[in-house]
Amino acid sequence: MTEKKFPFHDHPLAYEKLDRFSCILCKKKGGFGYFCDKCYFWGHKECIKRSLLHPSPCKHSLKIYTLEALGYAGDHCHFCRDYLLDDFFHCLICNINMDLKCLKDPPPSSIYHPKNHMHMLTLLPRVVTFTCNACSVEGKRNPYVCLECNLMFHKDCIYLPRVISINCHDHRISRIFHLGLGDWKCGICRQKISCSHGAFTCLRCPSLAFHLKCAMKDDVWDGKEFEAEPKEELEDELEDDSEKEIEDDSSEEEIEEP
Ligand SMILES: [Zn+2]
Ligand SMILES: [Zn+2]
Ligand SMILES: [Zn+2]
Ligand SMILES: [Zn+2]
Ligand SMILES: [Zn+2]
Ligand SMILES: [Zn+2]
Ligand SMILES: [Zn+2]
Ligand SMILES: [Zn+2]
Repeated sequence: MTEKKFPFHDHPLAYEKLDRFSCILCKKKGGFGYFCDKCYFWGHKECIKRSLLHPSPCKHSLKIYTLEALGYAGDHCHFCRDYLLDDFFHCLICNINMDLKCLKDPPPSSIYHPKNHMHMLTLLPRVVTFTCNACSVEGKRNPYVCLECNLMFHKDCIYLPRVISINCHDHRISRIFHLGLGDWKCGICRQKISCSHGAFTCLRCPSLAFHLKCAMKDDVWDGKEFEAEPKEELEDELEDDSEKEIEDDSSEEEIEEP
């Protein structure tokens, strides 16, 4: 039996008919495929072609391993975080594992959601620590990155609503990137909110803030998002400020002129 080395497996593989094992990819027995007598890897030629020829979530070529090789970059799937209980795929370049489920149904390699960010965001499928530019909480893997603006987001945070109405406060509340210095307590759970984290705030009640998670709970928010900042509230706010500015300007000029 002639054996051949392929980029998708560490050991040389033989092409043969095999009924003893089920295919690593389709889980069916029978037919011809590639077999490894060192780790008992076996896969239909067509199944291997199909799963490895279309680009992987990280755009690199992957290796297929049986469970015996576990320990390569941990024992979880990099994307869904499930334990690897079956044969798995590994990217040597990114040093990540993924299971068959995530290879077949990978996270989107780019997301365009202009409502929250005007540019295309690209998945960086790595173990990498980053501060999310929507919620300000540290992420540990797979940020979606805008290379134009140098911003990184948790996947879920790309879709965070901007302006919502909640049932325990009379005014609409708006999401801000971070709260700023202060001793903030959440108006819903009464727990502390870190001043460097994103939160919802009320334009009319400047001392109030709400955790993103608390304000978006099913029993607090009806799931509806408002397109823009609440209009009258903003206009009131701007009018107040412009009056103040005019007063401030005149006093400044008096000091600077002589
Ligand atoms: Zn198969
Ligand atoms: Zn092998
Ligand atoms: Zn997975
Ligand atoms: Zn990769
Ligand atoms: Zn986030
Ligand atoms: Zn951008
Ligand atoms: Zn809260
Ligand atoms: Zn309010």
